[in-house]
Amino acid sequence: MLLRTLRKIPKTIGFKLTFWYSIIFIISVSLLFLFAYLYLQTTLIRKDHDETLTRLRELKSFYRSGGFPLLVRGIAASKKSPEKSKFFIRLADRMNHTMYIYLPYQWVGFNIQRLELEPPERGKWIRLPDQHKHIFLEISSAKLRNGYWLQVGQDTRGRRQILTKFRGLTTFIILPLFLLGVLGGSFLAHRALSPIRQLIHTVSAVSQDMEALEKQVPNPHSGDELEELITLFNRMLQKIDTLIKVMRSSLDNVAHDLRTPVTRLRCMAELALQSGEVKGEGQKALEECLEESLVMQKLLNAIMDISEAETGVMHLETHLVSLDKIVREVKELYAFVAEEKDISIDVETQPDLFLRADSTRIGQVMANLVDNAIKFTPKGGRVWIKTYRDRDQAVIVVQDNGIGISAKDIPRIWDRLYRGDQSRSQKGLGLGLSLVKIIIELHKGRVEVRSNPGEGSAFFIYLPLA
Ligand code: ADP
Repeated sequence: MLLRTLRKIPKTIGFKLTFWYSIIFIISVSLLFLFAYLYLQTTLIRKDHDETLTRLRELKSFYRSGGFPLLVRGIAASKKSPEKSKFFIRLADRMNHTMYIYLPYQWVGFNIQRLELEPPERGKWIRLPDQHKHIFLEISSAKLRNGYWLQVGQDTRGRRQILTKFRGLTTFIILPLFLLGVLGGSFLAHRALSPIRQLIHTVSAVSQDMEALEKQVPNPHSGDELEELITLFNRMLQKIDTLIKVMRSSLDNVAHDLRTPVTRLRCMAELALQSGEVKGEGQKALEECLEESLVMQKLLNAIMDISEAETGVMHLETHLVSLDKIVREVKELYAFVAEEKDISIDVETQPDLFLRADSTRIGQVMANLVDNAIKFTPKGGRVWIKTYRDRDQAVIVVQDNGIGISAKDIPRIWDRLYRGDQSRSQKGLGLGLSLVKIIIELHKGRVEVRSNPGEGSAFFIYLPLA
């Protein structure tokens, strides 16, 4: 059960929405941070290069004005300034041999000798790595009037520290942000789909019990397509409900109006048969009329009974009744029908069970259940009727080893006029069980069914003991 629910989750719209929202959110946030990182990196490189070039221009102007002595004096004068003393400075002759070098202490790890092998070029940046290739020395060169080369550079350490900090901060911010995105996404999806869930809830309630047609899906008042859908759906429910009520009341009215003519028809057939004046084919026809009018009368009575019970008009003649007696009477009533189908009816009753009930109605309930049990059990089958006490309740079980009821039919067999797919070949109107349910409920009891297709069915009635 749990596994099935878990397997269903990835197929739900809520999950799919959350999933795609989270993916898009995560990609957008990652891209944003990536762009921010690249922008920061480019800005820092540009700043470092600008600083180096400014220093290079400054030293070049020293050299131009006062030659080598002024250049050295200029470098010595700026040693106290941390802004200026951080630069590497090299003066090389035309053959690129080092003539003068100013090396800040943090640059010891670089292979400065390599510069003699790297021909300087105006506008070109030389990059010297340290031993670990983590930090680079970025050097720019300027040609002096006498053909000498002046080189100024600074390392990437400061830039690297800032970028490492930024990366650390990003991981620190990005993970909670991802979590927030996923949680926010699932919350939003859950909220947005709540009207759909209400809709599903109402539809499944209606599919199980037509009485739920009176229910309405709560209006989300969101002013969007979902509100429109729910309004339309509620309107449709109302229409179906009205239609069903009209259908029921028309059926009740027809049943009511037909009862008297059918009774008259039956009386006339009985009288004609009793007079003995009709013989041969005429007599046969009258006998058939009598039989059919009895069936019609039974149907009309069932419709009227249900309608009376539903509208609360049914009158129960309650008195102390023995359950055992009712069961035996019903068994006797159906003994002949069961024998014809070669079905055995086994009765197992507890004799001391008494109810305060309408014995005719309880008999009617039992008769309906036994009638169904025989009807839906193939030849040579078995029917059991059992009664027993369960605390302050009497339990009646009518069981058979017949065709059974499919799981999809079980919630609907109690509906008026509902007939299972497999029972279409049998006679019936789909009224018996609705009557059973309503009569038992009027007696403050309840009825349940357990059934497996192909194995049989068992109907359980629970009634309060007297
Ligand atoms: P009807 O018997 O006239 O069809 P009911 O209201 O008595 O109507 O029963 C409704 C439906 O429940 C039946 O059509 C049948 O599909 C199913 N049913 C009732 N009792 C049994 C049973 N004992 N075995 C199998 N199916 C049953």
